Amino acid sequence: MRHRFAQALDQRRAQHRLRVLRPLEPGAPGHVRLGARELLDLSSNDYLGLARHPELARRAGEWAVRYGTGARASRLVSGTLEPHRAVEEKVAAWKGTEAALLFATGWQANAALFPALLKLEPQAAVFADWLVHASIHHGIAAARTKHTGYRHNDLAHLDALLGAAADAPGRLVATESVFSMDGDRADLASFVALARRHDALSVVDEAHATGVLGAGGAGLAAELEDRPDIVMGTFSKAMGGFGAFVAASRDICDYLANAASGFVYTTAPPPPVLGAMDAALDLVPGMDDERAHVAALATRLRAGMTGLGYATGPSDTQIVPVIIGGEAEALAASAALERAGILAVAIRPPTVPEGESRLRFSLSAAHSEAQIDRVLEAMADLR
Ligand code: PMP
Repeated sequence: MRHRFAQALDQRRAQHRLRVLRPLEPGAPGHVRLGARELLDLSSNDYLGLARHPELARRAGEWAVRYGTGARASRLVSGTLEPHRAVEEKVAAWKGTEAALLFATGWQANAALFPALLKLEPQAAVFADWLVHASIHHGIAAARTKHTGYRHNDLAHLDALLGAAADAPGRLVATESVFSMDGDRADLASFVALARRHDALSVVDEAHATGVLGAGGAGLAAELEDRPDIVMGTFSKAMGGFGAFVAASRDICDYLANAASGFVYTTAPPPPVLGAMDAALDLVPGMDDERAHVAALATRLRAGMTGLGYATGPSDTQIVPVIIGGEAEALAASAALERAGILAVAIRPPTVPEGESRLRFSLSAAHSEAQIDRVLEAMADLR
């Protein structure tokens, strides 16, 4: 078996799919340092520039001193501390749900959520937009249930699939509100209405909308009159920290706290991480100016790219893909930008479909219009 690892790595190298871990250091706002060089950073999910906000760092430190660096136990044993309860209540109030439940990471939340829900109805039919995050695919696969993907953002396709599954003992549908690789949105109101019509439980991953979209940055589901049954979001992107939450009814949250393996059998999130969450929850609702600024930067970047003849796909958020095509070409484009002092990563299969390798530009409130123009100049040179 041992020789297979090297073989697998060689194969990935030949396909331009070998990823390497490169340590970076923080630079000026919106920048990172790579060795001696400072690069304009369009690679991170720190959409509001909060990851180095002094108040998050201060509260993380304060809660570490007050409550300890570790939670000492899993939540159901004795790891639930006052700050867990406080942060969960703050999330629920912000999202406008009865309750919320913290998870260690977004990946873990999705991986744990679906098997727990489907434990109650193992024969349920599950339909997820086929561009949802790997963690949702993992969670559904782990539930070993009947699972079909529906065509990306194609609710007519979902409607047909749900109609054909009318006899199944239950139905569950899942989407993201903002898609992580294309930066486009789901039509959530229609998605929820469709789920209701077919008596399907609805789950929405708001990882990339949380903090950035909706009133007070509460996401797109919070805008709806009729909400999805379950919303998942992360603290690891616009919220500048780490960890995730599920916001739902009290019954669903209490059920998950009892039945979701990735909640029950893992150590509770540590106090410093909770402190950063708490500070972000205080700051983010008031960051409308930053949200408007990021949206304006994205519009500027898309218009500029289109003007240069690049395709930015269906993006209408702070995530702007520039489709390059082949893997080697996308890597070459990323390397050329890096030589020009700009960090934008090449996203390749299997993360995105074959032939759709891209540069993924993600914008932050820490960026300026002049910096976006610099990116456009570099892309013009690349043309
Ligand atoms: N869902 C989506 C849509 C994501 O993009 C990500 C992160 N890439 C996750 C979930 C996982 O979140 P986390 O990084 O907190 O594990």
